[in-house]
Amino acid sequence: MELAVTDPWDRLQAQVVACRRCSRLVAWRERVGRERKAAHRDETYWARPVPALGDAGARVLVLGLAPGAHGANRTGRMFTGDACSDWLMASLHRTGFASHGTSQRPDDGLELTDLAVTGAVRCAPPGNKPTPSEIAACAPYFHRELALLPRLAVVVALGGVAWLAYLRWAAGQGVTLRPRPRFGHGVVVGAGLPHTLIGSYHPSQLNTRTGRLTEAMTDAVFRDAARLAGGGAGG
Ligand code: SF4
Repeated sequence: MELAVTDPWDRLQAQVVACRRCSRLVAWRERVGRERKAAHRDETYWARPVPALGDAGARVLVLGLAPGAHGANRTGRMFTGDACSDWLMASLHRTGFASHGTSQRPDDGLELTDLAVTGAVRCAPPGNKPTPSEIAACAPYFHRELALLPRLAVVVALGGVAWLAYLRWAAGQGVTLRPRPRFGHGVVVGAGLPHTLIGSYHPSQLNTRTGRLTEAMTDAVFRDAARLAGGGAGG
């Protein structure tokens, strides 16, 4: 007999995983799962929406863009299974938020402290580019997560799409900053929003391989996040 999920956070994640709202993304995530990458041809891909990682006690939320086609869309865990997953987890480990400095397998025993990870869009999009209507369709999940994080103090937005997604949510709460804060790496919006918002370049290989984003730059963001969350795991 299947047990009922009673915890609101877990119930929400179960709803995310079952979602088929965006036909283009459903088709893409499943196609990637069928075709697979040569290096993973013997694996069974997750090929579904990816639930948030971490729990509802977090004081820091990392808001990414969307699952990687052969990363989280393969493994079923946020930021797990590709190069940018290791980049992020190594920084979270150095700054005290993560038990491990790598993230390649969902059964690795990884534990996050005081931090959760989610995405503006929960299905892998073609070319890592969700459409505006897909971002809008998926936003209610992230919005409901924000409502279920009572201790949340800091949101780290990985990239401009996540940054705007957070500001749109704030506008829906009646909070619109004028002029609208511009995304940038290390930009901190500490006043006027329900949470402190920190911008970070996304740890995609486009940024990390070109040197646009360095390990020191990523660590600085999460040290700020720990400090601004009131000490946090890393402070
Ligand atoms: Fe559902 Fe979000 Fe995936 Fe669209 S992107 S199908 S809304 S989980």
